[in-house]
Amino acid sequence: MKEFKTDVDIAQQATLLPIENIAAQLDLEKDDWEPYGRYKAKISIHTLDRLHDQADGNLILVTSINPTPAGEGKSTVTVGLGQAMNRIGKKTVIALREPSLGPNMGLKGGAAGGGYSQVVPMDDLNLHFTGDFHAITTANNTLSSIIDNHIYQGNDLNIDQRRIVWKRALDLNDRALRQIVVGLGGPFGGVPREDSFQITVASEIMAILCLATDMDDLKARLSRIVVAYTYDKTPVTVSDLNAQGALTLLLKDAIHPNLVQTLENTPALVHGGPFANIAHGCNSILATKLALKLGDYVVTEAGFGADLGAEKFLNIKSRVGHLSPKAVVIVATVRALKMHGGLQKNELDQGNLVALKHGMTNLQRHIETIQSFGLPVIVAINRFTADTDEEVHFINQWCKENNYPSALATVWADGGAGGEELARTVVDVINQGDAQFKPIYSLEESIETKLNKIVTQVYGGQGVSFSEKALKQIKEFNQCGWDKLPICVAKTQYSLSDDPSRLGRPKDFTIHVREFHASIGAGFLVALTGNIMTMPGLPKEPAALKMDILSDGTIKGLF
Ligand code: ADP
Repeated sequence: MKEFKTDVDIAQQATLLPIENIAAQLDLEKDDWEPYGRYKAKISIHTLDRLHDQADGNLILVTSINPTPAGEGKSTVTVGLGQAMNRIGKKTVIALREPSLGPNMGLKGGAAGGGYSQVVPMDDLNLHFTGDFHAITTANNTLSSIIDNHIYQGNDLNIDQRRIVWKRALDLNDRALRQIVVGLGGPFGGVPREDSFQITVASEIMAILCLATDMDDLKARLSRIVVAYTYDKTPVTVSDLNAQGALTLLLKDAIHPNLVQTLENTPALVHGGPFANIAHGCNSILATKLALKLGDYVVTEAGFGADLGAEKFLNIKSRVGHLSPKAVVIVATVRALKMHGGLQKNELDQGNLVALKHGMTNLQRHIETIQSFGLPVIVAINRFTADTDEEVHFINQWCKENNYPSALATVWADGGAGGEELARTVVDVINQGDAQFKPIYSLEESIETKLNKIVTQVYGGQGVSFSEKALKQIKEFNQCGWDKLPICVAKTQYSLSDDPSRLGRPKDFTIHVREFHASIGAGFLVALTGNIMTMPGLPKEPAALKMDILSDGTIKGLF
């Protein structure tokens, strides 16, 4: 049996190819890319112009059931599938999001995959990488400083300080910054007002970078951001402040997708990183489009379960980017399905077919969701060491009986070799040509109808209810003509409902929208449900406390 090493141990022992070899694998030309050290590069977005007439590859979306603390391994399967596709002779590029330092220092672990299916250099990726998040955070906070300075310098735009909706940002989990007061210290310190921080991955500029289709579109979206309202309630935008030039300038490098490789030297574009529970959850459109030009197949991932990441990938990102996925892989694990079937985390190492059977309802719901978008589904069973053969056989059998293509993936333990069956199944499904992708709502529908469709067709709930405040906002949005935008729901990732304790396939629930946020630059309306917060906190024992670096550069505790 293979000895189990930590993710960072495996990554540090890997033999990486110089990044120019990876660029050569993709037939990139000299002017297409710029090295960032020996193992990272940025690919210019202008490469898309050069490859304009080249046909796009096949887009494969990886999503999952609702996550549990047991872990589903969506990134791991995405990376493993990409590696496996190359092993079976299909030229494949992986497109992932960049990890956020918030969960890295907190609880969740990195976002570069795991075991023998990782993107490397994983330490760079999980720390500062190529500085994109720094640039986004800085652009965000430059805008905050411009707003506060505008008020300090006389407030020509008549901004109502109680109605500033633009928040400061930081890519960390820091609950102490959720509600703050700025401008203290008398006239010298500016004009006091309430403010708050959100995590960078929830910021509108992160969403804008991920949805922009070129530099001009980036600037136009930044110009449209609504930062505040005047005393007579008129929206104030970035273009009113004339800040769009500086913000675009700050993002001049961040807009170019990053190129790295996997442990098996499969090319991976890692770019942008909005969370799927509080933002739209997908890597950048530019990276995905570039990957489609560079590979015959592209494996990409959307955050958390299909109710959040995949829904937004299909209703928001694909619509904006004119993307049309050919197949969707839903990752499920025996462990997580048993938790959906009622087991506690400490009971998962024992075989339990009864709990597994109960938990299958969660997988079933997500399969139905993807089918309602007109897309074929493949179930990937991400095998953990404690899973019994009977349990794995049960899921396979269930899929067979219901006519859902499925495959066991042992990519965490075996790398690409453990995903070849999955890769062949995905290629077979794509070759059948059944994909007929269609978003589940039209932009012309009302805000209420769009939300109702998401709740009933994706979450399996009965409908949506609104707070007084949300109803008032809908009226205002209708008057501003913002009702034609798609909706980005901020909701717990743990349940199909807005109550994180309701696992499995809850029914008879409504989703309560307590408030909206108009992300006019990103081009969507955020509907905030449940207790979801845009600045997370650290847990009692943060992951950061286990991290270290030795004098020889060896890294410890980074998962
Ligand atoms: P997700 O993308 O669903 O959040 P990741 O792929 O990031 O999940 O995996 C989360 C953690 O679980 C990683 O540390 C990874 O190494 C671990 N993991 C994933 N799959 C397995 C598996 N089959 N066996 C053991 N650990 C796994």
